[in-house]
Amino acid sequence: MNFIETRGNDGEHPLKVSFSSAILAPIASFGGIYIPECLPQLGEDFLQKHVNSGYKTLAKAVLEAFEIDIESEVIDEALSLYDHFDDPANPVPLVKVKHDLYVSELYHGPTRAFKDMALQPFGVVLSSLAQKRNENYLIMAATSGDTGPAALETFKNRANVQVACLYPDGGTSDVQRLQMVTEDAENLKVIGIHGDFDDAQNALKRLLGSAAFKAKLKEKNIHLSAANSVNFGRIIFQLIYHIYSYLELLRQDVISMGEKVYLDVPSGNFGNALGGYYAMKMGLPVEKILIASNKNNVLTQLIKYGQYDLRNMSVVSTSSPAMDILKSSNVERILCDMFGTERTKELMANLDNDNHYELSAAELAQFQTIFAADFCEDEEGKQYIKEAFNGGYLMDPHTATCFKAYDTCRDKPLTTIAYSTAEWTKFSPTIANALTGELDTSDIDALKSIAKEANISIPDIISGLFDKDVTQKTVINKQDIEQEILAFL
Ligand SMILES: *Cc1c(COP(=O)(O)O)cnc(C)c1O
Repeated sequence: MNFIETRGNDGEHPLKVSFSSAILAPIASFGGIYIPECLPQLGEDFLQKHVNSGYKTLAKAVLEAFEIDIESEVIDEALSLYDHFDDPANPVPLVKVKHDLYVSELYHGPTRAFKDMALQPFGVVLSSLAQKRNENYLIMAATSGDTGPAALETFKNRANVQVACLYPDGGTSDVQRLQMVTEDAENLKVIGIHGDFDDAQNALKRLLGSAAFKAKLKEKNIHLSAANSVNFGRIIFQLIYHIYSYLELLRQDVISMGEKVYLDVPSGNFGNALGGYYAMKMGLPVEKILIASNKNNVLTQLIKYGQYDLRNMSVVSTSSPAMDILKSSNVERILCDMFGTERTKELMANLDNDNHYELSAAELAQFQTIFAADFCEDEEGKQYIKEAFNGGYLMDPHTATCFKAYDTCRDKPLTTIAYSTAEWTKFSPTIANALTGELDTSDIDALKSIAKEANISIPDIISGLFDKDVTQKTVINKQDIEQEILAFL
């Protein structure tokens, strides 16, 4: 299977690239990204065949349908990382919350957030490609809290790969910071910066685009890449769990084969939702994909009114920080799939130049056959957390946004799969506040009070963080980042 570009071709990039090229160099002509040339069709016989398959078997079959240029043994090794999830036989549990609402829990990996679903296997694939080509890669990441730990965890001690991870000092939760600064592998460098997430993100973008920086890396024989979700190598692993969750509903006798369901996705960069869209296009019986946002509600505006408008918007901090995003990179792949490269190039140029684009009425109608959307304010989110808890389900603030979308976006009484993207342990102060009203608690106190309220224990992997040595002590000004990274290499 080949990959083509979302914004058309500039005559310098190749017209089509293989999967491995698309993941090693994810940026295409005119700043576009790569999408599969066509999608394999899986259909009912595929679903029937895999009704009783385990996660890895299903994943292997989906990846095989894409005919990617990665050796079978490498794929097996990549998928074996799901064996380190809480329950290797069922890495993505599906839990019933109310009569037709089921939660698919994507956070049972090593860093307790959904980023592990894709980054765990992706680390193996990328490192193996680098080894095979005898090349060395510097992977850069800027994180507001979940991508950083997941990227460090997957690349630690892997050959031919080094990671530099930038985070805003004071801008993450204690648990997220400890997950990063207690990593001590030699190929990892964690850098706190005085500033916010935007400063970290801008520093990353500047370095990724800097010819001088790349020249200095070249002297050291190092290529530069990034671990963000525009990389199709992450997306491909994010389609599998949508199919798996559907099969899980069949196994639990909740639905019958072919019955349509809603997918309900807490969205930021739209990678998770895009995985659902591809699964639907490949034949999964989905009625609609519900896009849940927080107060940074650009996606709601787009899907309701056809306007992507950042002209009077700036990012606001919410209690679901992994969704505090205005430029949602993966929407571009949907635009391209629906409206073609010419139109995508035009719309993305409008966004880059004017901070705004508008879909035509026909385009909006097409969007709305697939998507519905709503956003959830922090206060409402806390009520959903409390309500779910009273009904016996403990969830994090990102997951809570889906419960609003479940209430407001469905027009048919169909079974709904909501995705839970983080464990309660990662955003404990908000949850403690929702459950007990306590304010301004530290992570460790919040963890303890939730554990007490819920009568559960704090997972060792989280409580252990507070006793680990801090090995990554660098906290610097943003103008010193480049020098710090070069010194590390
Ligand atoms: C990354 C993340 C999201 C957003 O996912 P996208 O694929 O970027 O839309 C939601 N919740 C949590 C906890 C995350 O870490």
